[in-house]
Amino acid sequence: MKKETAIINVGRDKKWTHGIVNPPIFRASTILFDTIDEMHFAAKNSTKGEMFYGRRGTSTHFAFQHAMTELEGGIGCALYPSGVAAISGALLSFLKAGDHLLMVDCVYEPTRILCDSLLKNYGIETTYYDPLITNDIESLIRKNTKVLFLESPGSITMEIQDIPTLAKIAHIHGLTVMLDNTWASPINSKPFEMGIDISIVAATKYIVGHSDVLMGIATANEDHWKTLCQNSYLLGYCTSPDDVYLAARGLRTLSVRLAQHEKNALQVANFLSLKKEVDHIRHPAFESCPGHAFFKRDFSGSNGLFSFVLKRGSKKAVNAFVENMSHFKIGFSWGGFESLILAVTNIDKIRTATQWDNSKPLIRLHIGLENVEDLIADLENAFGRYNQALINDNK
Ligand SMILES: *Cc1c(COP(=O)(O)O)cnc(C)c1O
Repeated sequence: MKKETAIINVGRDKKWTHGIVNPPIFRASTILFDTIDEMHFAAKNSTKGEMFYGRRGTSTHFAFQHAMTELEGGIGCALYPSGVAAISGALLSFLKAGDHLLMVDCVYEPTRILCDSLLKNYGIETTYYDPLITNDIESLIRKNTKVLFLESPGSITMEIQDIPTLAKIAHIHGLTVMLDNTWASPINSKPFEMGIDISIVAATKYIVGHSDVLMGIATANEDHWKTLCQNSYLLGYCTSPDDVYLAARGLRTLSVRLAQHEKNALQVANFLSLKKEVDHIRHPAFESCPGHAFFKRDFSGSNGLFSFVLKRGSKKAVNAFVENMSHFKIGFSWGGFESLILAVTNIDKIRTATQWDNSKPLIRLHIGLENVEDLIADLENAFGRYNQALINDNK
């Protein structure tokens, strides 16, 4: 089945939908049984779609979990109240005191803070590695290294990793390999075919797609599903069926939304690449993006999220750029229908294995579903404000 068709069909088995097109919202804590045997059967089969207790999910959850597992290509997935919860849930499931974790340097900032605070306090040591590392990852693996964590492309700086090579070497040493696959979504990469054991997606972004629900998903392969599932249950992670309903609804239009985000973003990135003020574009589909060759090999497309680096600029000039836009709004997160802009000024502070030159300001864009000519005109005006501010700086 082609991916556009799969997205429409997955998770719509009649046993969950009762024949209704969208799986309905089943809200429950208590589930009622006629007999003790029935109750025991449900307890034993709660991961196979038997309703047992609300925390384990209802038909609403099972339908969506089934859909996501099929799309990602694992054998089961756990739902979490946010993307960050999926990351912490996966890491805590496979690490214990005395263990060592290899974490990519361009990781989402809250993941880094988790490693440097809570995991550190639990006696788990983290080493950050260069996102562009390939075979040399082997030199960083120790006797007590248990998990290799990837995020590709990286948050903000967008480096693309050599996922298959890193996974292969990690497996030789018995590591569990996790990937934050939020950027690709289930559409643009096949994490399990590249050797990933656990693929994590912040559904908050493109799956929900409307900036109104937080949700995380961790999908596992055969060897890792039981542990992941058990531990997510023990940690008490669960999601409301209303949120799952919205995520499942968002999922059905993912392929058309993503295609339009991608098309608009490529046009905007092309426009930016011709501006004399721009140093380079950090969009995985552009040769100027570190790891671009891995993108061409491993991904089937891009989306609306990318960054670009200016040749120079003061804080005032950058603020003049990002403030007073007509269509781009200042705000965290991404993946909704709307365009967003962010000036990121602390990159040197959230990189420890690699260097970042802070004298060249970085701006991250999420390109929404507006008309692309309106977006380009908005950016053209921003360059006007920025250049004026640079002139004023020198007065
Ligand atoms: C947003 C994001 C997350 C966290 O998702 P939340 O639902 O906001 O907790 C994790 N990883 C990446 C790459 C993200 O962009």
